[in-house]
Amino acid sequence: RTVYVNGEYLPETEAKVSIFDRGFLFADGVYEVTSVLDGKLIDFAGHAKRLQRSLDELQMANPVTEDELLGIHRELVRLNDIDEGLIYLQITRGAADRDFAFPKDPVPTIVLFTQAKPGLAQNPMAKTGMKVISIEDQRWGRRDIKTVQLLYPSLGKMMAKAAGADDAWMVEDGHVTEGTSNNAYIVKGNTIITRHLGTEILHGITRVAVLRFAREAQMTVEERPFTVDEAKAADEAFITSASSFVMPVVEMDGAPIGTGKPGHVTARLREIYLDEMRRAAI
Ligand code: PMP
Repeated sequence: RTVYVNGEYLPETEAKVSIFDRGFLFADGVYEVTSVLDGKLIDFAGHAKRLQRSLDELQMANPVTEDELLGIHRELVRLNDIDEGLIYLQITRGAADRDFAFPKDPVPTIVLFTQAKPGLAQNPMAKTGMKVISIEDQRWGRRDIKTVQLLYPSLGKMMAKAAGADDAWMVEDGHVTEGTSNNAYIVKGNTIITRHLGTEILHGITRVAVLRFAREAQMTVEERPFTVDEAKAADEAFITSASSFVMPVVEMDGAPIGTGKPGHVTARLREIYLDEMRRAAI
């Protein structure tokens, strides 16, 4: 693969970052993942906007303009011949002698690489649905900032695998926050329920689009916390993320949700999302 590091396109084996990088030592960095369909970027503007917000929240400098960032994404798609896949972008505060206090005038580190995922939009899980378990949400309190501090979500994914499931939905004060790397939704009749925005969840780029499409399709959207019991009694459940789009959830803690098969509302939203976003891709 050809990757991008601090202004250069290099073979992945030649790309280097300092061992003193604060991303490595303190998880002092933010990231974005943008999907590629038909060789084009899905919702690039949404990701660029959230990136800037994450950087601002952490008083971190942005080493690139949005136009430059778009150029880098497109060049990596071209150099790596990506038809379907993902582009990972990470910006850290940069390298400095180890100290909890931020260094003065740090030079940010920026890294991008591609992951080819042929069949990304044809994921068979869209037909079978996924299984989730519920676990306690033990992450920090600023989940609205997309930091590279992903150890607890990683542990959650492993807990799910150990239980024979595909992912974990995290629970705080009896209410579902989100999945390990996705936003969580339940469906009751024609109503879609998903947690409201705040510091407790990541403000998903896919979530924005899906809720807009749901409202346009005359579905009712309730942005509020829901409980695990509500989820288990729902007609349907699903997740959204840039890499999974809209994916049905058919089982929670070993019990089927609704019919135990992917639901109609979920299937419709997935279809609308993929159609519309492919059309708008750049
Ligand atoms: N929540 C969390 C915790 C995530 O990590 C992600 C994906 N990175 C999402 C939600 C979904 O966000 P998006 O739709 O922007 O991919």
